[in-house]
Amino acid sequence: MTRIAIIGGGISGLAAAFTLEEYRRAGAVEYTLYESSPHLGGVLRTEQIQGCIVEAGADSFLTEKPWAADLCRAVGLGDQLIGSNDADRKTYILVRGRLIPLPDGLMFMVPTKILPTALSTLFSWTTKLRMAQELFHPPHAVEADESVASLVERHYGAEMVDRLADPLLSGIYGGGAASLSVRAVLPRFAEMERTHGSLGRAMLAARKKAPRHENRLTPLFTSLKNGMQQLVETLVPRLNQASVLTDTFVQSIQPRTGGWSVSAGVKSDHFNAVVLALPAHSAAQLLSQCSPDLSAELAAIVYSSSITVGLGYDRKVRQSLPPGFGLLVPRSEGKRLLAATFVHNKFPHRTPDDRALLRCFFAGSTAENLWQLSDDAIVTVVRDELQQILGLRAEPLFARIYKWRSAMAQYGIGHLERLDRIERLRQQLPTLALAGNGYRGIGVPDCIRSGQDAAKQVLNR
Ligand SMILES: Cc1cc2nc3c(=O)[nH]c(=O)nc-3n(C[C@H](O)[C@H](O)[C@H](O)COP(=O)(O)OP(=O)(O)OC[C@H]3O[C@@H](n4cnc5c(N)ncnc54)[C@H](O)[C@@H]3O)c2cc1C
Repeated sequence: MTRIAIIGGGISGLAAAFTLEEYRRAGAVEYTLYESSPHLGGVLRTEQIQGCIVEAGADSFLTEKPWAADLCRAVGLGDQLIGSNDADRKTYILVRGRLIPLPDGLMFMVPTKILPTALSTLFSWTTKLRMAQELFHPPHAVEADESVASLVERHYGAEMVDRLADPLLSGIYGGGAASLSVRAVLPRFAEMERTHGSLGRAMLAARKKAPRHENRLTPLFTSLKNGMQQLVETLVPRLNQASVLTDTFVQSIQPRTGGWSVSAGVKSDHFNAVVLALPAHSAAQLLSQCSPDLSAELAAIVYSSSITVGLGYDRKVRQSLPPGFGLLVPRSEGKRLLAATFVHNKFPHRTPDDRALLRCFFAGSTAENLWQLSDDAIVTVVRDELQQILGLRAEPLFARIYKWRSAMAQYGIGHLERLDRIERLRQQLPTLALAGNGYRGIGVPDCIRSGQDAAKQVLNR
């Protein structure tokens, strides 16, 4: 019987286990999933507080990436999937202390409608002129990888980096546009520049090709009625319970004849193959003895820490907050807050009608600086900034703080070349597979796909 160890019980490891479960039932494999903490799901965690669904980590996933919704359907949660309230989708950017809505027609940071962009006060006239000129950029292939900031600046100027690229990407990767690889993070942009030159023209061409109903009917984000943890709670009982070990930290893995020895606590066990479903830095630690080169490449994938703060308010606050999904804060505004989501507007079923729920987000060096503060002190910082930004003075009905140490991968310049080197080194250990958010997508759907692929990879061996 083939024995497989899965190390890491976040959504990547759980997706790998769910894939292997089918083969276990057929009598083809055995697997053991090791999770160091008492909880499964990693950064997917949801609390219900005063009728509000408070997400500690991920709150949803991109609908256009199918793997998360497919997994939800596979575990029987198809009827629990909910889409974002896109009719009310409006995001504000803080510019010189004022909240300015993103103009209609902006696709990520590429303007596709002239009038709303021209009338918006989000951009200076210099940037608006750059946007018009951008439509005439000739096709252009860049030889080497570069930062997202340098591509965006080449097309639209520095203001676009500061006001849009940076805050949008910081909310996803916890790191700024200057340190993120355009080929890894926005491969479509690099391709559009190569084929069309102008990102604006390329976006319009792509939109023309897409079926009309697709643009209108598909919500941008998908989640679950009871929150992201609902996926974990529904998936875990479908696994073989004897195969799932929580509170079990794996301290080493060593290649042995015909497989691997996995040591957790005082126990060691033998497996034919191992799936490391971990942040790259944790995988690096486990591989430091048996493959120092692979370990060094994995350790070089930078991770940033983040803090989310959930604040619940009453009906009065709900009525006083602006409509829309929330706000982003460019670094140039000198605030610590990076983003705040108006959860009560973004999704149905998240709060009772008489409650408002704000999800505030800090990342990178700001999160590190706040780390040592008490929960009360962090709430004071958040409230102070919300007062400055939204004029919100009310006392929250509840506040919850969630800290995520080194949980968000930042795909630095040259990330794809690093992944090639990692793959070459991994091939020297053919019964080892890597899954998780350090490689080809940080979002929940990509993590699920990476876990499923890793399981299939070790099965094929
Ligand atoms: C605050 C925050 C908000 C996010 N928001 C979104 C969002 O809205 N949408 C979206 O798509 N994505 C979002 N993401 C990203 C996405 O949620 C994560 O990339 C994804 O969930 C990571 O899953 P994972 O299983 O790869 O890793 P993790 O969830 O980090 O799980 C790894 C697990 O491995 C365990 N572990 C570590 N070392 C060992 C060891 N030696 N032995 C045993 N176990 C070990 C850990 O305890 C952990 O449970 C967010 C991430 C964060 C941090």
